[in-house]
Amino acid sequence: MAATGSDLNVAKEFLIKGELVAIPTETVYGLAGNALNEKSVLSIFEVKNRPAFDPLIIHTDSVDKVAIYVLDFPEKAKKLAQKFWPGPLTLLLPKKSIVPDLVTSGLDTVAVRIPKHPLLLELLRQLPFPLAAPSANPFGYISPTKAAHVDQQLGGKIPYILDGGECEVGIESTILGFENDEVIVYRLGGLDINEIESVIGPVVLMPHSSSDPKAPGMLKSHYAPRKPLHLDHREALAGGPDNAGYLLFNRYIEGIDKTYQRILSPEGDLKEAAHNLFAYLRELDSMPVGEIRAELVPMQGLGLAINDRLQRASVTA
Ligand code: AMP
Ligand code: MG
Repeated sequence: MAATGSDLNVAKEFLIKGELVAIPTETVYGLAGNALNEKSVLSIFEVKNRPAFDPLIIHTDSVDKVAIYVLDFPEKAKKLAQKFWPGPLTLLLPKKSIVPDLVTSGLDTVAVRIPKHPLLLELLRQLPFPLAAPSANPFGYISPTKAAHVDQQLGGKIPYILDGGECEVGIESTILGFENDEVIVYRLGGLDINEIESVIGPVVLMPHSSSDPKAPGMLKSHYAPRKPLHLDHREALAGGPDNAGYLLFNRYIEGIDKTYQRILSPEGDLKEAAHNLFAYLRELDSMPVGEIRAELVPMQGLGLAINDRLQRASVTA
């Protein structure tokens, strides 16, 4: 068990000493360390068991501070930052050498975000360095959206969890890169693509890759429970094995014990569905079921990011 609380001074002291602290963000909980301290960054990879080729996002609290770490801030990136920061949007920008290569897995771009959670923003304001913070889960497993999720898996390995309640958005940030005049979506996430396009026009979707070194971290298999996950349209879900658990969009399947069913949003609201996604996957994973059968949600708005997570959770290895 890690000490858990909402004391910024405690979090700050550990971070300044180079130790790691789990932090609340509006997307998912992060495992944070001083992004400019190689030892801290190295221990992030160790604690998560994360491969060194999968780069980290750095978090800070103002565009002025971002300018310390990047060589260039393209016009479209500026427009997006102005509109959506603080928020669930990560921008890939050319890095300055002050950012350790360990953070970016040797790439010449660094992923930056200004998160929206008030407790974290205050912490970032008070720190003299940015925080490198991937999701606070063992590599490949479901991301944590509550302090207790972090404690269950990493509690023995870190000194403090800064508890900021449940993560409002519930899925990771949308990641965008800029090449020539094109805006490329590296990861679908908590900021709806339609909102992005309404500010800067059409964007290009990058396909997943499990091996392309130019696109680290876009691994096909990710966000996965321990139980096998079968993903399908609603009509095809019933008729599976008797001991299955069900993750459904907005209503129960008749004739199946409700104890083993979770409804992402009874109202059919995709924001609510994203908020509940990882917590419900964890609940189903810890039930005595042989497999999880999940329903594809409508392919619109945040539904794209939700289905992306479910698809990657359903891929083995
Ligand atoms: P996490 O913080 O666990 O959500 O993971 C951060 C993700 O950001 C990685 O898995 C990568 O997909 C992505 N990322 C970070 N930096 C870069 C970069 N320079 N180029 C491409 N993707 C990146
Ligand atoms: Mg992650």
